[in-house]
This record gives sequence, C-alpha cells and structure tokens, in this order.
Amino acid sequence: MSLDTEFERVSLSLEFPFTISRGTTEEAENVIVRVNDGNYEGIGGAAPSAHYGETVDTVEAVLPTLLAVVEDVGDPHQLARIERRMKERVNHNPAARCAISIALHDLVANRMGLPLYRYWGLDPEEVVATSYTIGIDDTDRMAEKTATACERGYSTLKVKLGTGRDEEIIETVREEAPDATIRVDANEAWSPREAVRKIEALDEFGVEFVEQPVPAENPEGMRFVRERAALPIAADESCVTLADIPHVAEIADIANVKLMKCGSLREARAMFETARAHGLETMLGCMTESNASIAAACHLAPLLDYADLDGSLLLAEDPYGGVAMPEGEIDLIGVSRGTGASVR
Ligand SMILES: [Mg+2]
Repeated sequence: MSLDTEFERVSLSLEFPFTISRGTTEEAENVIVRVNDGNYEGIGGAAPSAHYGETVDTVEAVLPTLLAVVEDVGDPHQLARIERRMKERVNHNPAARCAISIALHDLVANRMGLPLYRYWGLDPEEVVATSYTIGIDDTDRMAEKTATACERGYSTLKVKLGTGRDEEIIETVREEAPDATIRVDANEAWSPREAVRKIEALDEFGVEFVEQPVPAENPEGMRFVRERAALPIAADESCVTLADIPHVAEIADIANVKLMKCGSLREARAMFETARAHGLETMLGCMTESNASIAAACHLAPLLDYADLDGSLLLAEDPYGGVAMPEGEIDLIGVSRGTGASVR
C-alpha cells in the first residue's frame, strides 16, 4: 500500500472578534493535512497555539518530516506505530502531529465504511451538548452576544472572564440567559486569593464550574483555590498531555483535554481513561479551529462529562463538513463515515 500526503495553510475568519484574558483573535490560520490511499482520503487540521509554542510556520516546518513517517510506514491502520515514530522524530509540535493523527483516523474509518465513533465502539447516544463561548467584550456587546447565543438555541454558555468587571459581566450574562448553564474561564488571569473571592461571587449567579482560575505555572495556587472555592475547578492550561493527569487530579476536579495540546486522538482517549481512574471528570475543549479537526473531536463526545467544541460554530464560515451541532447537540448518528470532515 502506498499513501500520498499533502498539506495547505488556510485562513479562517471568526464571526465575531474573539477576546480572552490574554488577547484578541479575528482570524486564525490552520494547516490542513490530507492522506490518500488511492481510493479514500482522510482530512485533519492543525490549529497551532502560540501559548504552547506553535505557529502555522512551525507546523509547516515539521510536517514534511512527520508525513515522511506516514509514507514510510505506508499502512494507515498502523496508528500506534505511526504515532510512536512521529513522536520519536518530533516530540514537541503537538498540533502538527495531531493533524496527521486525525487525517489517519478519518482515512481508516472511511476505508472501513464506518463513522469514527463506531470504529472505536462508542455509544453515539451518550453525548453531552457543547458549550458556546462568549468572549470578552464591553459589557453591552457581551449581553448582545449572549442574547444571540440563546436565540440560536445554545443552552450551555462558557463565559470568558479575567477583567476588572467580572462580576458585572456575569450578572449581565445571567440576566440575558436566565435558564442557561453557565461556565466560566479565567484563562489564568486571577491570583489565588482573588480567585477564591471571585468564585464566591460567581456562585451566586449559578455558575457550573470555573476553568483555570490561576496560572498553570502556579500549581500550588490552583490547589489553594480548589481547596477553598465554592465551585468545581477545571484545569486547562495546567492539563496538556497524558503525563499531567495524575498531578491535575491533585489540583483540580475536571481535566480539560484538547487535541492540539496532546497531539493525538489516541493520547486524548488515554487521557480520558486515566483522568477517570484518578477521579477526575472529563472535558474536551478546542482552539480556533475548523471541522477538519473539530469533527474528529466530536467522535470523542461519548467519553465526556463536558464538551467545549464550538470552534467551528464561532467561524464566519467553515470550509469543511463535520458533525452537525443543532443547538449545541452533537449529532454523531448523522455521520455516515469517517469523521465527517470530507462530507459536505
Ligand atoms: Mg480554557
């Protein structure tokens, strides 16, 4: 068997400029990988994050080395072998490795004529709805975005905080969305004591949990918050690869896994199993990414307690097919084969 591979850079425009405590994004660049066996194709996407040391340039720089591994092994079903060898060649650059992991899983499931979740044996009815993220903006704009999200039927909102007016924001969002489940993400913006205080105030507005209140560089701060906070704490920036999970269990309640942090669908699955074994709840998040990668993430939904897979929903337009998410409900049963990324 021989495999052909190619990659290209794509620009993705967001429907609204997206701000978190660290900065604003209006357009994201992803790198799309295609692997073809002559009959079937697999598509994967890399959504590199500068926070974890990757850019589209670094992705494009290492892809030829990584894709040479794929062509050398030649059999897309040898997922364990390919992923092991890729990691031996390029240990960092998880988004670049992940694009290939996703493309191979899509190709293999396409060859088998199965949707990816069925190839894995997962139950498509055991899914949770995705949250829809409200980025930081002036408070009136955040109220408008919340109203729009509610009109579109999203019942779980993730609100970005880490401003001087966090309480005003959450009060406004709660007013606009009285029945929604509301989660909060501070993206490392608070000090430990400030976090405990703010979380107490958030609890009044019926917030479900708080993500990454303090910097990942301060694990003792995370532990301090978790021991005192009124709400469950999710670790995102503190939870990067499988090796982090045992420690995350000591400082948080929820492990927020992202494909672009851990670099592989196989590692993400291992992270969920390991997280559960350590008493953690599981969450899958995303970067600013298209269905070339989000579609694959959706097939992991049966393993989750919380899904934050709105990458494609936040784009002005998504060039790839994917898993339908009407009102945030992840419709795996509607996928005919592969991840759904190549079906439009
Ligand atoms: Mg986060």
